[in-house]
Amino acid sequence: QARQSSGSAFCEFSVMMSEDVQTRVSMLHSLRAAIDFKRGLTLHYQPLMNASSGEVVGVEALLRWRNDFGEMVPPQRFIPLAERTGMINELGLWVLEQALDRLSAWHRQGYRQLGMAVNVSPVQLRADDFVIKVRQIIEFCDVPPALISFDLTESIGLEEPVLLASRLMALRELGIRLTLDDFGTGHSSLRQLMGLCTDMVKIDPGYIEEIVESADARALAASIVDLAKKRSSCVIAEGVETAEQAQALVDMGCVLMQGFHFGRPMAADQFEHWLRANKASLLVSNP
Ligand code: C2E
Ligand code: MG
Ligand code: MG
Repeated sequence: QARQSSGSAFCEFSVMMSEDVQTRVSMLHSLRAAIDFKRGLTLHYQPLMNASSGEVVGVEALLRWRNDFGEMVPPQRFIPLAERTGMINELGLWVLEQALDRLSAWHRQGYRQLGMAVNVSPVQLRADDFVIKVRQIIEFCDVPPALISFDLTESIGLEEPVLLASRLMALRELGIRLTLDDFGTGHSSLRQLMGLCTDMVKIDPGYIEEIVESADARALAASIVDLAKKRSSCVIAEGVETAEQAQALVDMGCVLMQGFHFGRPMAADQFEHWLRANKASLLVSNP
């Protein structure tokens, strides 16, 4: 009796396992097709604000994928898969092309100060032709490199520090700005903040969540802001959801922020409406 039941439990377990593998294999196939045929892939854009002046200083491009069944697949699910299979190289360049093409259109509409942040995977940094491809895309889209920033996470710095340093240097020589994303999570450590040459640091939403309710959380956030500033970095707070959180951050000297309080990630046309409704101050009427 006992043997039978444990046998059936094992059976159920292996069915579960193989379903999981099947799900991943089918996700892999449909992601491959999505990349090949540019099907179901789009970028959404989230505003980056100067909360002190009320100006929109830039926008972050965030990848969205609607699979063949019409379901939205969260980036946290498909990006790691694309990284493991190397598909991220192609996908990441497509994201950059789309984002810079948009940025160039917005610049032509008069939003000449608008910056664009693009997430770049450590896998992409390892590719030999990455910097050359990036240069070609920037030249083709004809946007000022100083208005482009790459959001970097993860720890290839620990694995291949020499390669990473030379890639980052080459990107900076192109004039691109670099941002350490998700600061304070396991992905980016204090050592990286101090060791890597980045122009900006994005503080993880985890540090912002409680700053209004908890004095401890506020003190922690304030010391992270100070630390980042000592490195002459710009500090951006991510995940700002309320006006009270925004005010607390401004009080501690962090004015750049992103979050649902200002705007959710939006499709390009929605973002254009949002821009028009929110800030004409970015418009430069005469070139
Ligand atoms: P991230 O770069 O740190 O992006 C910020 C994430 O926080 C986005 O999630 C955004 O929707 C979310 N967020 C923004 N404001 C708020 C807020 O006020 N509250 C809350 N709860 N969340 C907020 P999303 O779009 O799901 O992206 C998740 C992650 O996927 C990104 O984190 C980034 O690491 C990765 N990712 C997205 N697009 C790309 C891409 O094109 N390439 C690569 N390599 N990674 C990407
Ligand atoms: Mg990011
Ligand atoms: Mg982040």
